Amino acid sequence: MRRTALVTGAGRGIGKAIVEALGEEVWVGAMDVQFDDGPVGDAQFVVDVSDSAAVDEAVSSIAEERGGLDWVVCGAGIVRDRVSWKMTDSEWDAVIAVNLTGAFNVSRAAALSLRSSGHGRLILISSINGVRGSFGQANYAAAKAGMIGMSKTLARELARDGVTVNCILPGYIDTPMTQGLTEDVRAAAIARTPLGRLGRVEDIVAAVKFLCDDQAEFITGIALPVDGGQLLGASA
Ligand code: NAP
Repeated sequence: MRRTALVTGAGRGIGKAIVEALGEEVWVGAMDVQFDDGPVGDAQFVVDVSDSAAVDEAVSSIAEERGGLDWVVCGAGIVRDRVSWKMTDSEWDAVIAVNLTGAFNVSRAAALSLRSSGHGRLILISSINGVRGSFGQANYAAAKAGMIGMSKTLARELARDGVTVNCILPGYIDTPMTQGLTEDVRAAAIARTPLGRLGRVEDIVAAVKFLCDDQAEFITGIALPVDGGQLLGASA
């Protein structure tokens, strides 16, 4: 049987592009709170990743129907930006719940299946802002940094079963999440990027496909920036 993958945040943006790319090789379950742009993948699961019971049920149904689960990509994410001294409890809680707790819920639900896969891959879509911080994003940076620490722990815990666990740290990628920003902000982001352009969803897809490939079986516990060099900081 073809391998089985699950991608969260699959309704649009980076997650949708990952579903479409992985779908050329494997069966893909797509999880999101909505699929307003139309169905993607081989099956759609309308699930809020912060709802652990709903996640457990969906992951179990995939594993049961498909006889296992091999690759999981946690891409669901939201932002609720505000400078820290004005940030509300609900803005803090929502971003931690979706980005960090959501990734944990999915990772925990999938762990047993990944361990018995023989080709288990768990990939968390974090952000360079989890490493460098970002004005107005105390909640988001904390969640994305938490994903990195969590992934390194999961990498240790799942290694004995040959499961690799890695984070991808996108820089500024042109998706619906960032398209609402002003031209000035976009121009400033390009100016801070040594490779001189915004990221494309294809850049993240390439990293996901590489980490899922059998040839990447000895790579685990990394946090891979895909950012055109933004983390290098200001040029010399
Ligand atoms: P996007 O276009 O907003 O896509 C995120 C998807 O996650 C949306 O379809 C969204 O649904 C879904 N989602 C939100 N809350 C959810 C929940 N509770 N349960 C399940 N799904 C949920 O964002 P993107 O730019 O593709 O980002 C994908 C991932 O990359 C995110 O984790 C993001 O933090 C990360 N990232 C993005 C960038 C960037 O520059 N774009 C940079 C660094 C990291 P709705 O449409 O209903 O909101």
